[in-house]
Amino acid sequence: MSVTETANDIAAIADNLRRVRDRIANAAIKAGRRPEDVTLVAVSKTKPSEAVRAALAAGQTVFGENRVQEAADKFPALRTQYRFQLHIIGGLQTNKARDAVRLADVIETIDRPRLADAIEQAMAKEGRAPTLLIEVNTGDEPQKSGVVRAGADAFIEACKARFGAKLVGLMCVPPLDHDPRPHFEWLAERAARHGLSVLSMGMSADFEIAIACGATWVRVGSAIFGHR
Ligand SMILES: *Cc1c(COP(=O)(O)O)cnc(C)c1O
Repeated sequence: MSVTETANDIAAIADNLRRVRDRIANAAIKAGRRPEDVTLVAVSKTKPSEAVRAALAAGQTVFGENRVQEAADKFPALRTQYRFQLHIIGGLQTNKARDAVRLADVIETIDRPRLADAIEQAMAKEGRAPTLLIEVNTGDEPQKSGVVRAGADAFIEACKARFGAKLVGLMCVPPLDHDPRPHFEWLAERAARHGLSVLSMGMSADFEIAIACGATWVRVGSAIFGHR
């Protein structure tokens, strides 16, 4: 991305945020829900910390990053000046678990027993316990992170036993070029079945559909920060 494009993106962030917040509120009302029951997670991956600062200045307080290293490069310095919540939303390698636990307020992508082990050990070592979600690979796509649908019930129960109230919900990224609605509905049904209250689903292209299906967190990147 050129310097000019970055500057344009940064100038547009406050406006974009206002528009996205309006769209979230309208989608919630249309679904008979309260706007304040949907949290906007602003996804700042690949964007510079100036972009994050612009969003913070516009009142945004919840951010998502895919990669632990990028989160480590951008966010700790901002903690001295701003209050915010940082979510890790990308597939997580076990060797990154400790950094993730140290940095993040929320880890949305627990998806296998070995990662759950690593997170549990990291929480003990760091004396810090982020809020946790399980990522479900609702399209059963081989290249994607997330527990496959057939394994979801058993994994959710095992994580509930292990993490207790720290495990609050489910997250998904439906396959590209699919109607996301059945994926969102599947995730909502599964969360309800397991008594989990948080549903992290919906991105720039489909967050209104996700809200209609019960999303409580929407993860929106390009509609706020511009194209990547
Ligand atoms: C990049 C990303 C998003 C945001 O995507 P946009 O289409 O830019 O809104 C949301 N969730 C995850 C897991 C992502 O990787």
